[in-house]
Amino acid sequence: MLARECLSENAQGRRLSYMAGAESNLPTGDDRATVVCLHCGKPQEVGRRAMSITCKFCNKSLKLEDIPIKTYQARRVIETCGVVTVEKKGNVVSDKILCGGLVARGKVKGTVISHGPVLVGPEAEIRGDVTAPTLAVGAGAVLEGHYIIGPKNGHNGGAANEPEPISGGRRPSADDDFD
Ligand SMILES: [Zn+2]
Repeated sequence: MLARECLSENAQGRRLSYMAGAESNLPTGDDRATVVCLHCGKPQEVGRRAMSITCKFCNKSLKLEDIPIKTYQARRVIETCGVVTVEKKGNVVSDKILCGGLVARGKVKGTVISHGPVLVGPEAEIRGDVTAPTLAVGAGAVLEGHYIIGPKNGHNGGAANEPEPISGGRRPSADDDFD
């Protein structure tokens, strides 16, 4: 299965094992997980079963649940520390998708800012800019937009920003347009 292979290949400790665990619902005995705040970028420990928390650094509320999208859905904004999964028949239109990870098998339209891996299936269509630490794309996927892939600069969030090798040699562009 494509998604799982990519996840384990890019595995980066607890952040990913939280995501994988949340997806498969396996009992792991470890009921703590680390999430990275979507708003301030600070990592913090949460109970694995918590569905939402209030960031203890910036006091904003954070959803932790995974969001499956199986139909057409138009939303102003989607925000979760969990994984947004757009199934083959899913078609999401949103100004902004802020997420802990994205698995796209269907259509996505909007700006995607993911704190974890973005996995794009071979039949997916993504129209919009994508920012993510890692990206895996199946052959045949349609991608329209700017892609900023790689560790984030300009945040002093620490552990979340370790560089990772990107298979296929894609690198973040060195444009100076971003402050
Ligand atoms: Zn925060």
